[in-house]
Amino acid sequence: MTLKLEPFQNLTYLDWSQDANRLPMEAALKTVAGRFDQEYPLVINGEKLITDAKCHSYNPCNTSQVVGTFQKASTDHAEHAIQAAHQTFPVWSRVPVEERVGYLLKAAQKMREERLELAALMVHEVSKSWLEADADLAEAVDFLEFYARSMLRLNEPYELTPMAGENNSFGYVPMGVAAIIPPWNFPLAILTGMSAAAIVTGNTVVLKPAEESMAIGYQFVRIMEEVGLPKGVLNFITGDGAELGQYMVKHPLTRFINFTGSKEVGLQIIEEAAKIRPGQKWIKRVVAEMGGKDGIVVDADADLDAAAEGIVKSSFGFQGQKCSACSRAIVHQDVYDTVLEKVVEKTRQLKVGPVAESPDHYMGAVISAEAEAKILKYIEIGKQEGRLMTGGEKLSAHGHIIAPTVFADIAPDARLAQEEIFGPVVAFIKARDYDHALEIANGTDYGLTGAVYSNNPEHLQRAEDEFFVGNLYINRGCTGSLVNVHPFGGFNMSGTDAKAGGPDYLLNFLQGRTISRKA
Ligand code: NAD
Repeated sequence: MTLKLEPFQNLTYLDWSQDANRLPMEAALKTVAGRFDQEYPLVINGEKLITDAKCHSYNPCNTSQVVGTFQKASTDHAEHAIQAAHQTFPVWSRVPVEERVGYLLKAAQKMREERLELAALMVHEVSKSWLEADADLAEAVDFLEFYARSMLRLNEPYELTPMAGENNSFGYVPMGVAAIIPPWNFPLAILTGMSAAAIVTGNTVVLKPAEESMAIGYQFVRIMEEVGLPKGVLNFITGDGAELGQYMVKHPLTRFINFTGSKEVGLQIIEEAAKIRPGQKWIKRVVAEMGGKDGIVVDADADLDAAAEGIVKSSFGFQGQKCSACSRAIVHQDVYDTVLEKVVEKTRQLKVGPVAESPDHYMGAVISAEAEAKILKYIEIGKQEGRLMTGGEKLSAHGHIIAPTVFADIAPDARLAQEEIFGPVVAFIKARDYDHALEIANGTDYGLTGAVYSNNPEHLQRAEDEFFVGNLYINRGCTGSLVNVHPFGGFNMSGTDAKAGGPDYLLNFLQGRTISRKA
């Protein structure tokens, strides 16, 4: 019997102005904070392992607060995890598709049930605002629901052209052991999407979460275990990201790598994965979704209030730590001063502070001391390259809270206009005309998201034809992609354009197989 599911629908966000949502969330934040002394194991072949060496994650808003204690896996543990995944593959790859799909659907249900506590953990561990944390949770659920449906679709028989004297068939088969290496910035959504896609396609996984968000990463593993995923399918190791990540990438038994993170690390992975090592029988496949230097173009006849609103939201949501975040406002000279003034005014109104305390805090802390130092360094560079309009400083002694920062008069080739800062900093760049604006917009090595505000149909058509990004938005901001509403992935140095949350994503983790039988 074939499994029939309701059409996919995105989970809607909670409204924090309602007591019915806000009060239970306040309770969830307290409950989760009561578990900060918890220690999380490695999970290899279903076994929970404790090591002598430990590592920790911290609350970015209050760096004296440890959010969890984790095992510091060695490369021996990574080897053990890869071997476990390798040995489980022959069994898991033959588990019927509908059974594999069932685990994702059950996990989605569990995440909906645990919605507030999972979101609360994201507030504490990575300093997401309540809105952003809930959106992250919703996206994780969406990925599970959507990839479950995608797998059922791919499993439907494909009709080949008939050939007399032969019975021919075509279908997809899993590939092998997956190295899953996600970032911390969508600690549940991206980690869940990347792992669930590999699992539902019949592959076995070694998952290494980012060091900054290991507690949230563990929740996915726990949930998959609770819904009965067989042992060895999903193996979980924590520790030094570069050391373990490189071990996984170089291992001859790793069949493919699903990476999301910075350009620097992604390019290194692509290079290392291309080297054939003794005992390796395949060409490793790499999905690498990387950084951005996303721009919003504002045309002379645009709705300037909407444009300013879009720039502020896209630049400062989750402290600008989204690959899709607007870091360049490219504005036609006729409206440049007006848009700049509106953006500065709106930026000054943003509420910034410890996110656990109130849903009204639109922005919290940036992720780490390292990120803080990097962002402050770029702010110093910005002061040399342009005019500081607002922000530009650290706001808290306890955490990595940086004021939303706007620079004006940045040249298109300045460092602030070219390098990914990954923090709450936006650079205004003046364009002579629309041609110039598009030239500036395309003038980086990246090509992830972009937006154009204009009321000129011809200009909008030109944006569609010429603005070379994987996700182009017209008359709206450049963040906030939804699963199967805006399949997501970038061009050029932004990555391999795997289009997460899109119709083709699962094909990255499958290989097509043709069988031709003489009648
Ligand atoms: P990062 O590159 O520092 O780390 C990403 C992952 O790689 C982590 O799990 C980390 O532990 C691991 N890692 C680090 N060094 C490694 C190495 N040498 N070999 C193998 N693995 C290694 O990135 P981050 O700081 O976690 O995330 C932020 C970056 O991710 C930004 O550049 C952002 O634009 C990008 N990002 C892209 C997308 C997208 O869809 N394109 C989505 C989210 C984030």
